Amino acid sequence: MAFFIPEDKLAEIRNTADIVDVVSSRVLLKKAGKDYTGLCPFHSEKTPSFTVSPSKQIFHCFGCGTGGNVFNFLMMYDNLSFPEAAENLARQYGISISARKMSGAEKQRMSEREQLLQINRKAADFFRKMLLKNPEGEYARNYLKNRKINRDLVDRFSLGFAPAGWNGLIRFFNRNRVAVDMAEKAGLVVPRKSGNGHYDRFRNRIIFPIADASGQIIAFGGRVLDDEKPKYLNSPETPVYNKRLTLYGLNASREACRTHHAVFVVEGYFDLITMHQFGIANTVATLGTSLTREHVRRLKGYAKKAFLVFDSDAAGVRAAQRTTGIFMDEGMDAAVVLLPEGHDPDSFLFARGAESFQQVAASAKGLVDFQIDASIGRNGLNLEGKVRIVSEMAEPLTQIADSAARSIYIRHLAERIGVDETTVLEKIAESREKSNAASDRPPGVAPDGHAWIPDRFEARVLAMMLQYPEIHDEIRTRAVLECFGDERLKAIGEQILNEYPHKVKTPAEFMNRLDDEDQRRLVAKLCIDEAPWGEQSCRMLLSQFFKAKEGKRGNGLLERIRAAEQKGDQDLVMKLLKEKQNQMAGRH
Ligand SMILES: [Zn+2]
Repeated sequence: MAFFIPEDKLAEIRNTADIVDVVSSRVLLKKAGKDYTGLCPFHSEKTPSFTVSPSKQIFHCFGCGTGGNVFNFLMMYDNLSFPEAAENLARQYGISISARKMSGAEKQRMSEREQLLQINRKAADFFRKMLLKNPEGEYARNYLKNRKINRDLVDRFSLGFAPAGWNGLIRFFNRNRVAVDMAEKAGLVVPRKSGNGHYDRFRNRIIFPIADASGQIIAFGGRVLDDEKPKYLNSPETPVYNKRLTLYGLNASREACRTHHAVFVVEGYFDLITMHQFGIANTVATLGTSLTREHVRRLKGYAKKAFLVFDSDAAGVRAAQRTTGIFMDEGMDAAVVLLPEGHDPDSFLFARGAESFQQVAASAKGLVDFQIDASIGRNGLNLEGKVRIVSEMAEPLTQIADSAARSIYIRHLAERIGVDETTVLEKIAESREKSNAASDRPPGVAPDGHAWIPDRFEARVLAMMLQYPEIHDEIRTRAVLECFGDERLKAIGEQILNEYPHKVKTPAEFMNRLDDEDQRRLVAKLCIDEAPWGEQSCRMLLSQFFKAKEGKRGNGLLERIRAAEQKGDQDLVMKLLKEKQNQMAGRH
């Protein structure tokens, strides 16, 4: 780990940044006894198995096995390195990691990511000044005025303007000593085809900065002011910008999503801003891509239901077809809001107002229902029409993994169009066979492909060591770790003995010292699994443990003594002999 954050600062961050606070700003959590639970942001689930422990300051998911401390959570959720996660938290909690302490070498190590974010901030400032103060921005200012976007909205969304020339931003970067290769990496400038120099990617466009969950600018969107093509232009993917994870406006709308338990998903930047202007702040926009599974997982952290807003039947049907399976898998309700032909949310709101919009939204149909209706609309309900409807609906119904939900929808479709349920079932069985051949992972392999199944007994011993450090001396004297068969568990055990209590005192601290992700996941699980460890229960576990080991390997103790002798480890031999004596004494 490239480190320039001093240990005492890390401790301060750890003590200040409460894990419940940090996680709950991204995942809906509910109090459950001493802990909090919610739907895991890292795998598909409908019942919460993602657990956060405020007392231990760790999280663990019983579904996919992931876990760690507050740093690990941010690293996974926002795709950050360890120092980045630490910096991010420090910034959020007002802990200053003073830059003057950084040496030249350390500054160089300052991650590429941090540099890119800095460049993005500078670019956003430049675009903003161009919009608000520059004479060239006059045209853009008028354009926004005509679209009834006032100064308050300009500020709230940090809108900007990219001037028409080819090198306005490049010249600004030169003046501010921003390296052009980094600006290229940030996606803001593009190398000339001639191989000679660069030019600005965004020209003569209104600029919409795109922020991540913690409000940092990770990319930009630009919209033309005239009929130029393309109408919208976005940053390419960069080390800080991942399209599959990013929704425009989520940072500005998450509180409103939580309040309303619902989120509107629109397509354009202006649609989103107009929704805000009309007081419908629980809105996000897709950035020219269709909704991904990752998007839905993120939205689940803020709302229970998604309303996908479309301006035409065809667009709605396409989106519903693509996302029915995802929403079903993720257990999030979704419905299609269909605006009258020719209207997008922007034009509709200005023409009819927020109340009419809410009325249309109130009559929104669920994804499957919407597709059934659209199919009926296209095909009619005569004989041929019904046949086509059944075959059109087979595919979306196949996507519903939950068999109970699937059979409800099948019955519903059969009733709607007046055909026999078995007819629909047969068609779906056909379609399922086709798609089964294509997908499905082998049973027994975890979703992420990890196949390490730790020894249950040995893992329990580690859980005890993590939760009841008073037992460490006994673990040492009885050489418990020596009889571990799982080398990776043994390594964790040794690390616990070495680092408690001088280097680490809590499980959350211990996690920072584990580089291996499998190890960290396991430790989180072991820490969160609650067992009332006390002297009595510890001794009981140890004696069960030894019994199991002896049973499995014949006279295991003797074997271990022999092995220790061969290795020439006299200390261990003495320990084991003592153990043997204790065992004999215990039997009489
Ligand atoms: Zn999970």
